[in-house]
Amino acid sequence: MFANRYTGRFAPSPTGHLHLGSVYTALASFLDARKNKGLWRLRFDDLDTPRNVSGATTSILKTLETLGLYWDGEIDYQSLHLGEYHDVLSDLLRNGEIYRCQCSRKNLTPIYAQICRQKTISTTTSYSLRLKTDSRQLIFTDNLQGEISQNLATQHGDFILKRRDNIIAYQFAVVLDDIRQGVNNVVRGIDLLDETPKQIFLQNVLKLPTPNYFHVPVLANSNGQKLSKQTLAAAVNLTAPNLVLFQLLNLLKQKPPMELQMANVNEILKWAVEHWKVTLLKGEKMIYLD
Ligand code: GLU
Repeated sequence: MFANRYTGRFAPSPTGHLHLGSVYTALASFLDARKNKGLWRLRFDDLDTPRNVSGATTSILKTLETLGLYWDGEIDYQSLHLGEYHDVLSDLLRNGEIYRCQCSRKNLTPIYAQICRQKTISTTTSYSLRLKTDSRQLIFTDNLQGEISQNLATQHGDFILKRRDNIIAYQFAVVLDDIRQGVNNVVRGIDLLDETPKQIFLQNVLKLPTPNYFHVPVLANSNGQKLSKQTLAAAVNLTAPNLVLFQLLNLLKQKPPMELQMANVNEILKWAVEHWKVTLLKGEKMIYLD
């Protein structure tokens, strides 16, 4: 089902500007795709509508363009595919792989106690849809982080594919999105490593292939906090995009030569593609900014 050609992607959520941590991941994924003469797709993960921020898409595109990170093909938006997600959910429900759940968040234990698995829940009230997990040991090898092993039933429990407010959950959407875009190499932040076994489990249930995964470290500020919207990470400063790329290459441990910082964006990216070695990041989980 996968195309032979390496296909990677960047999938930002339009919830604000890109900060240094997000472009760090974008650059890693871009370089890995280009080094492998692959395609690099762009998708906006825009299903969580209450979190979307107007103007974020434009600002994200401007940042990518200023840094010379051009994508291949059409930009995809999850919101264009609501029918597809709901169709697959209907199939899963018919096959008994998922079930309706009416538990409210305040009654939940960290590992869902499967209270609604055996209940018949009326469709006239709001409900979430949960996937039945089992206790098989899910093992995969992350190209950077090594072997990861998880037992979903005991470590996460039955998880949600559609929320009670009808929003399609990230875990589920991402599996269908990556297939739709032909993605066979996922390079993203290590904060999503723990979510990956759920996605692999879903791929198994849906009989879909599993892409290769690389989870790159996340950037942390001087207080040791991951750069994120919650920690109020600033937008990438675009006044000198060459310096931003140079800094990112250092943070990606690529050892760019000093004189490269004065080159233009295209020259820097050309150097970076030629010299890209993801293995230089092996074993790193967090990279601290001074
Ligand atoms: N949209 C997700 C985020 O911004 C990324 C999803 C993914 O890379 O799988 O965190």
